[in-house]
Amino acid sequence: MTERVDVHLDALTGLNAGMNARESVSCGSASGDNTFYLETFGCQMNAHDSEKVAGVLLGRGYRQVETIDAARLVLYNTCSIREKAAQKIYSRLGAYQKYPGDEKIIGVLGCLAQQEGEDIFERSPWVRLVCGSASYSKLPDLIEELERGNRRVMGLDKDTDATFETEITRRDNPFRAYLTIIEGCDKACSYCVVPFTRGPERSRSSASVLEETRRLADAGYSEIQLLGQTVNSYRDSSPRRMSFAELLVEVAAVPGIRRVRFTTSHPRDFGRDIVEAIDAVPGLCDHIHLPVQSGSTRVLRSMLRTYTREEYLEKIAMIREARRPISVTSDIIVGFPGETDEDVEETLSLLDVAQYDGVYAFQYSPRPNTSAQHMPDAIPEEEKGRRLARVLDRQREIQIVRNEALVGETFEVLVDGASRRAGQWAGHSSSNRILNFTSPQPGLLGQYVQVRVTRSAPNSLVGEHVV
Ligand code: SF4
Repeated sequence: MTERVDVHLDALTGLNAGMNARESVSCGSASGDNTFYLETFGCQMNAHDSEKVAGVLLGRGYRQVETIDAARLVLYNTCSIREKAAQKIYSRLGAYQKYPGDEKIIGVLGCLAQQEGEDIFERSPWVRLVCGSASYSKLPDLIEELERGNRRVMGLDKDTDATFETEITRRDNPFRAYLTIIEGCDKACSYCVVPFTRGPERSRSSASVLEETRRLADAGYSEIQLLGQTVNSYRDSSPRRMSFAELLVEVAAVPGIRRVRFTTSHPRDFGRDIVEAIDAVPGLCDHIHLPVQSGSTRVLRSMLRTYTREEYLEKIAMIREARRPISVTSDIIVGFPGETDEDVEETLSLLDVAQYDGVYAFQYSPRPNTSAQHMPDAIPEEEKGRRLARVLDRQREIQIVRNEALVGETFEVLVDGASRRAGQWAGHSSSNRILNFTSPQPGLLGQYVQVRVTRSAPNSLVGEHVV
């Protein structure tokens, strides 16, 4: 699998069936131009935050446009997990020098906003709005202040006691709905900005999660993806005190819901009850994303990951013991300060043992407000690149073999993409594999179909519709 830097909104942006955005109620802009452009960088949490931000703006009478040129309000929902991601956003912001005066309102949302705060105004003086994710509920008021003539506004709360939820989330994917169940993170991985940018963990009550699931099912969604930075650290705040596994089972039982996914799981909080739930309930997808980050216990200690290589592999063994095969994917960081050649070998050997179906691998980059920022023994960039290539090569070999073994198998696929070529479709299996396939039937978008695999590639499968 290739290096993941940006994860933009699903390719289905623009297919509006099933969206639950409320009709416009008022015009939000004093200038009369109520257009906004919103671009998202980073993880699925950010993608879902953007859906909520879009919903709030649409509810205030704003109109979303597809190009920067057509927009008065230009918003970037940013990621700062790696230095590259932050640099990319600053280079985007640099382009606004060409717009005279106040022709556009430029806003920076998300993790970079939370991390850099008013320094963004220094570096990019044409930016007028800086707002972190804990302050999104105040976004309409902040924009109103700008429209009233305030030059610059900021929303940088560190913590809110409730997650930011809105009735008018504008979901981009008409089939799969993201649903945040826990915000923030109480872990303290030494390389990670999330505890700083998103604050401490706050879980939604199971009642509100189930109520939103029912609403989503009524709106036509059949697949739900529960989100959280550490989704399986979920703690029900209601008197029912449901465990995460119990919540999974109840969400899957909502009439109309056919698939339930969840991401991202933290290995420390990953228990057998989750595997048992997947085994017992067919609606729970047979895919688990369980980031390991390194195969070396020494590096894991330095990363403050709170588990050893052996403990992690015990969790993998537990997943492999399930009655139905469960696909497992992971994240890996190479080039962490002090990482030796032996540590890299341990990561490579962990890949061999874990037999992941996909890996997102990255080069470490020091981030502000993290404890690893000033660690000694930094690895030179060139060497990080070599290590990354080794990890990706090894994983590619594993995926070639694993995917080849699937030729001849049949998967149920939710069709969520169509090629320009007639009869060519794409979709995801419950195990989150991408299948490109041919079918003699038209109008398959949003349907569940059976697809037999005829060919394999390292990152996807090719097949034909079993009619
Ligand atoms: S578990 Fe670690 S890597 Fe994940 S969000 Fe929390 S601090 Fe970051």
